[in-house]
Amino acid sequence: MEKKRVGVLSLQGSFAEHMRSVFRSGGIPVRVTDSVSLDCADALIIPGGESTTLRYLLTQEGLKHSLEHRVRKGMPVYGTCAGAIVLAKSIAGEKSFMPLMNISVERNAYGAQLDSFEKDLSVKGFPKPVHAVFIRAPRIHAGVGVEVLAHAGKDVVLAREKNMLVSTFHPELTADLRIHQLFMRLMD
Ligand code: GLN
Repeated sequence: MEKKRVGVLSLQGSFAEHMRSVFRSGGIPVRVTDSVSLDCADALIIPGGESTTLRYLLTQEGLKHSLEHRVRKGMPVYGTCAGAIVLAKSIAGEKSFMPLMNISVERNAYGAQLDSFEKDLSVKGFPKPVHAVFIRAPRIHAGVGVEVLAHAGKDVVLAREKNMLVSTFHPELTADLRIHQLFMRLMD
């Protein structure tokens, strides 16, 4: 079987860790920094980091339009934390950036860096829980057409709509590859 070429947006944030998880999941990680490198990828992970910076750099590098176009045409995309904010249809108190997924987000909803936390989650379809790391995570509200795959308490923390997957936690920071594998199955 051909290996999957999974792009990882490498402008800011935890891209090196995502590249490692893609590689360990049997894919070829593609470092995406502009629209030419985006063309070499069949899917894209938008890492966690700082969504204000990510939004600025995506615009600066001229990637915003090509990325939006590819996602609308069906390219699988996975937004982790800040990546989910980038894809959200609405962002509380701010203008949305790439309003592609029917979720609304509230940034830093659990407080500051020191309020970061870890939690075991039960994920739809997974026989064993996922240990999830949350770092200045947003809170997601899922709209119509969005399938919720995991909650932490009452909050949605993993969700999918068509070719788009988002999580408010960071699977690239643990050795568990199941979330990356779940994303890579969207490429089949
Ligand atoms: N708090 C960050 C933001 O709003 C997201 C944090 C993260 O990606 N871990 O952009």
